[in-house]
Amino acid sequence: MDLHLPEAQPTEEERRAVDAVLGPPKEILVEEQVVRGGVSEVEGKRHLLLPALQGVQDQIGWVSEAALGYICRRLTVPPAEAYGVLTFYALLATQSRPKRVAHVCDDIACKLVGADELCEELANQNAVHRSPCLGQCERGPAALFQCAGEDDWTLVRATKEGVREGLAGKRREMPRPLVYGRRLLRRIGVCDPESLDDYREHGGYQALRRAIELGPSGIIREVKDSRIRGRGGAAFPMGIKWEAVAKAPVRPHYLVCNADESEPGTFKDRILMEEDPFAVMEAMTIAGYAVGATTGFLYIRGEYPHATARIRNAIEKSRTRGFLGKDVMGEGFSFDVELRRGAGAYICGEETALFNSIEGYRGEPRNKPPFPTEAGLFGKPTVVNNVETLVNVLDIVLDGGPAFAAVGTEESTGPKLFCVSGNVAKPGLYEVEFGATLKTLLELAGGVAGSGNLATVLLGGAAGSFVGPEELDVPLTFEGTRSVGASLGSGVVMVFDDRALMPEMVRRIAAFFRDESCGQCVPCRVGTVRQEEALTRFLANSANGSAKREAALIEELAQVMRDASICGLGHTAASAVLSAITRGLLDKTT
Ligand code: SF4
Repeated sequence: MDLHLPEAQPTEEERRAVDAVLGPPKEILVEEQVVRGGVSEVEGKRHLLLPALQGVQDQIGWVSEAALGYICRRLTVPPAEAYGVLTFYALLATQSRPKRVAHVCDDIACKLVGADELCEELANQNAVHRSPCLGQCERGPAALFQCAGEDDWTLVRATKEGVREGLAGKRREMPRPLVYGRRLLRRIGVCDPESLDDYREHGGYQALRRAIELGPSGIIREVKDSRIRGRGGAAFPMGIKWEAVAKAPVRPHYLVCNADESEPGTFKDRILMEEDPFAVMEAMTIAGYAVGATTGFLYIRGEYPHATARIRNAIEKSRTRGFLGKDVMGEGFSFDVELRRGAGAYICGEETALFNSIEGYRGEPRNKPPFPTEAGLFGKPTVVNNVETLVNVLDIVLDGGPAFAAVGTEESTGPKLFCVSGNVAKPGLYEVEFGATLKTLLELAGGVAGSGNLATVLLGGAAGSFVGPEELDVPLTFEGTRSVGASLGSGVVMVFDDRALMPEMVRRIAAFFRDESCGQCVPCRVGTVRQEEALTRFLANSANGSAKREAALIEELAQVMRDASICGLGHTAASAVLSAITRGLLDKTT
């Protein structure tokens, strides 16, 4: 990309798409003639770069050099930097392509239910691309349709006919998800997710009222008493985070709801946002009030069009009715939510990468420290929680922290959502109290499907690890999974029967990390490539002595990535691969 602004002028359509996001450019007088495109009020607002690129992508179907140049002029962003951002995201295209494109998921959960066969059947369609996990793991195979000038949408239980019809413009209804649970999921299936009135009839906004009675320090006391840990993978105590930001002298404070769940096998936040979006709004408002933030950003993954529509509706209705805005519920405090969409980059789920993405930079993680509570979004103190973690705050406020802490175990308190997929009779979202065993969860999900014989369970997603049938009595808690060398991660429980082609599954995991590494640091950028190569050689040579050498090499690479990578992706990129080797799951290739 040339460092200079391209001379090509955008088409009227491209200009309109950009202006719809940035507002019309200021008109200026040059030699008594009115011209457009002068310095505008958005100059320097780099955080609007990704929304502007998405505006063009959504309307035109790709981002031309001329459109990029127009965005650069309006935002005063150097073209080379804007190009670096544009090419960072898988859902932004730099070449002209068909008006409708289908991204068919070929990740592990969809692979188990025939995604590869589906992709092969569709191989001659140039508008079909293979995609990493789309977060529809309980009802795969799945396809995401990106449609220029129309809303994007998702097809679940996809077939060849369904994908072909989708490319021709025919949409199918989205079925309701299968959920089981009494606390966090209690409104799902009984409350209209598009109606604020219905939400209120089902107890909505009682928690915010109670929160206002408690006041910010009272809320933080309850959250600390609940001993809740984050549900996104890092398991950091939520109360400590909130307290640190609330006390930070630097202003403003920000709240970020991390809804960029992209860990293969994870779909819990999607279901919460699709089916109970007002609860997400209420929880964000309580969090903002508690930590002194007047703006909350909800960053949702670009592959979730249905959840995005529901959240957008919830924001608009909450605003209209005074549950968001300058004087929330007439209580004299201000809080509003800004919705930001990701554009197909797993790494943006990492909190500092997410900040960079919102700020208009490539979604590359930052070194820590400083931690977000000190210098987060726009360099200001920031609380980041994922959707599930935040929604728990409603019950913490309503029932009190100690009541919440009485559920679960000493170290793992409260209810927990598990995304159960793969070879089970009833894949879906299951809520249990912390402490329930893997066996209990599998029984709730109707037991092992397919051959009926359990081979292994992937806990925690691609960044997690495999456990065996002998570990079914492991309690699904932070400490329980740690005791068997696994982790809960984001709550993925993916079940494989003894007919599953484990080498293919593990190869897909290695390819996933090779693709999703942001490339910023050498151990991860090179290590994920070398890992995939070594795994391929390991699988090809599993019957002879050289496989041992490859296993040792993978172990060494894992060590280097753990020790020297900047972020969690590099730290965990080898854990599932290594656990599969250690547990002998790949030996059947002999
Ligand atoms: Fe990027 Fe990987 Fe380094 Fe993380 S560990 S910053 S994903 S290269």
